[in-house]
Amino acid sequence: MKSAADNRSADLVMTGGVVHTMNPAGHLASGIAIKDGRIVRVGTPLQVQAMVGPETEVVRLRGRSVLPGINDAHLHGAWLGLRWPDLLLDRLTGTDNLAPDSRLGKAEERRAAILRTGDLLASLGITSYTEPGLGPCEHDGGGRFGVEVLREYADMAARGELKARVSALLLFAEMDGRSSLPDVVAGLRDLTPPAEVPGWFKVTGVKIFADGIPPMRTAWSDEPYEDGTHGAPLVDGDSLDERENALTTMIETVAAAGHQVAVHATGSRATRTVTRALAGAPGRRHYLVHGDVLHPDTLKTMAAAGIGLTTQPGIAAAASPMLRDALGQAALGHAWPVRDALAAGVRLCLSSDAPMLTPDWRHGVAAAATRWAVDGAPDQRLALDQALRAYTIAPAWQDGAESWKGSLEPGKVADLCVLDAGLLDVHPADLPEVPIAMTLVDGKVVYER
Ligand SMILES: [Zn+2]
Repeated sequence: MKSAADNRSADLVMTGGVVHTMNPAGHLASGIAIKDGRIVRVGTPLQVQAMVGPETEVVRLRGRSVLPGINDAHLHGAWLGLRWPDLLLDRLTGTDNLAPDSRLGKAEERRAAILRTGDLLASLGITSYTEPGLGPCEHDGGGRFGVEVLREYADMAARGELKARVSALLLFAEMDGRSSLPDVVAGLRDLTPPAEVPGWFKVTGVKIFADGIPPMRTAWSDEPYEDGTHGAPLVDGDSLDERENALTTMIETVAAAGHQVAVHATGSRATRTVTRALAGAPGRRHYLVHGDVLHPDTLKTMAAAGIGLTTQPGIAAAASPMLRDALGQAALGHAWPVRDALAAGVRLCLSSDAPMLTPDWRHGVAAAATRWAVDGAPDQRLALDQALRAYTIAPAWQDGAESWKGSLEPGKVADLCVLDAGLLDVHPADLPEVPIAMTLVDGKVVYER
């Protein structure tokens, strides 16, 4: 039976293109109709034409592609707004000496950085992101990861000033640094996070750092470094056992407080230990961040326990030689095994970790689809559709929001990315050359080429 709403005409109809719905069946459609910020119909030209009334704006796609708005599952928005276009990977690869970060000390500076990121992301078709780690323990006082940024997001969301939907993770430690169980317990007790602004801003969980990164020899690894060391957890403790126990207890404590747990883990021992802890923790939709080295048993446990993986194809592309130099060929065989992860049944999100890398997801898809690693690494290339899911519906699941965003289906929010070409006609390696034609959030055009 048709409701009255179905019979009213749409605000906007796009027709004559390729609509990548990202619905469970992976359907392609050729038209989409939008009303009051929601998708009201997806289908054939005839089906969406039926939604056209005298007031309806009609966009002829002429073969161009429509995707759900891109959701970057791990992007430091305030920090990116501060530094763009300077990217940190240049420092990791030693090709550039970046100027030190300036500061976000004042409210207007924080707001300006978030607005700048919003404009940049809108121009890239990105309509949602996870801001991974804001809290009270920022060690350099630069203001990029502080509680003030968290509150600024909430205020801007309430005023309708955000151009992208933001999920935020709390951080009770230094970014990329050491942490302690008492700090986390105190943080959970003392910090009252800002309230959710439905659809636009939500604190979804807590970020934890289990270890460092392989090129710095700080990843906690089964495979030894050249000097025979294995790295260690970044969590305080007097012995390796104590540090491991503190990490596990930290994960359990955060989960027991009702939070989603997102754990930075890169070395094979870190990813294994964290996976085991998350599998035993209450709650759901916990996930590993980066997951540089993942052994098959770890992937199996992740899949069985519903633990997700959020990783960065651009980092894999750039850092594979460094990982091999640090940990050897054996570790490289288990490095960024995204295809194996999907085959095992792990929920995979791809992201930029901007400003580590460019937030331009087109480069991420190209890296994921064309294989990134050095000689001797197993083939972990993704199909285009797999990579696109990892930037749309999978991160919507990570946000606990797959019922209302992440795919193009009737009833969901009208967050769209329109590309200036038919995606199926483009080799993934050439995707970065395809312009973004239009970005819609909540049915509103936030970018038009
Ligand atoms: Zn990050």
